[in-house]
Amino acid sequence: MSDWRKDVEPLTLKGQIAIPYTWHVGDVGSRFLAALRDEKKILGSRCPECGKVFVPARKNCGACFVDISEWVELKPEGVIEAYTIVHYSHPIQPVKPPFAYALIKLDGADVGFLHLIKKDLDKLKNGLRVKAEFSGERTGKILDIDSFELV
Ligand SMILES: [Zn+2]
Repeated sequence: MSDWRKDVEPLTLKGQIAIPYTWHVGDVGSRFLAALRDEKKILGSRCPECGKVFVPARKNCGACFVDISEWVELKPEGVIEAYTIVHYSHPIQPVKPPFAYALIKLDGADVGFLHLIKKDLDKLKNGLRVKAEFSGERTGKILDIDSFELV
């Protein structure tokens, strides 16, 4: 039997798919987002086995395979662990560039929290302290924190 695959011309098709969708973020995600919206609070959850505090709050610990039921209110401040500055526009970007995606370790958390920094991009460095700036109009989404700013 011959291997017909080696003689096939690899063709491609260009396409564009836009699929509006809505999904339930779950009980834990709903409480996390409602706290942002209603109380300007950032909630994490603490694993009963390893003690790690996750933010956004999680329903279970992937390392310990246990449910998490302890909620932790985190301070809206932390340290930049990593960042990248975005200079190009794309429909998938949440805001107009330039801005930075930053991994922020909030005080009291054990994992990074991915969010945006919009100001002082030329001053960003890992290790700098930042604080959350909440949006004036909050609707129960992650951008209820408008961005983080240098302290
Ligand atoms: Zn754990």
